[in-house]
Amino acid sequence: MEIDSDISDILTKLSGTREEEILRAMMTLYAQIAQKQAVWYEKSGFTCPRGCGECCRNFEPDLLECEADYMAAWLLENKADVAEKVSDGEFPFPENKGCPFWNENDDNHCSIYGGRAFVCRFFGAYGAKSKTGELIFKPCKFYPAEILSSHKPPLSHRQYSEGEVRKIFGILPPISTDTMEKAISINPDNIETKMLREILPKSIQRIRWICSMASGN
Ligand code: SF4
Repeated sequence: MEIDSDISDILTKLSGTREEEILRAMMTLYAQIAQKQAVWYEKSGFTCPRGCGECCRNFEPDLLECEADYMAAWLLENKADVAEKVSDGEFPFPENKGCPFWNENDDNHCSIYGGRAFVCRFFGAYGAKSKTGELIFKPCKFYPAEILSSHKPPLSHRQYSEGEVRKIFGILPPISTDTMEKAISINPDNIETKMLREILPKSIQRIRWICSMASGN
């Protein structure tokens, strides 16, 4: 799969290191999510209302280290000034109850969209697996009820089984649990998750340090 990279300079600096392998594996996984979601959006016609962003308003993601590392690399390459401040624990929107990258005043809300975490990529378009391995799908709780009820056939915020989803949409959404399993396998020695505010500054510091060691600076 051809993957556009938002972190190509960082990857060059990390060339040959374990960190490069982790970031490339994350890029592949994120590209797979995007590809599956594009097919789901196209065939199902079920997408989030433009500019909604309610999922992040009171929500702070917790991250695997590999997710935090990707976010850190993306910030270092694309928003170096923000990365610098975050590495000192200074976030752009510290007053937020939820994610400190959520911008109330921007129509797109997420200020680190290209570096966002798994859960952020799944918002609004994912299914999960039940205990029996069947897919279950529940429209996002912030999805406007009036749009759901105007869907043909009408939908609600209830949970739909795999069979129902196939019948209604003719396609299944990406499955978040499968992707998390793949993510965990990227760095199986470190599968603990931590809140974004706690883990991200350390990831930025570590990646910056590995880059400087790799380049001999
Ligand atoms: S990183 Fe972006 S998409 Fe994810 S919770 Fe924060 S503002 Fe929302």
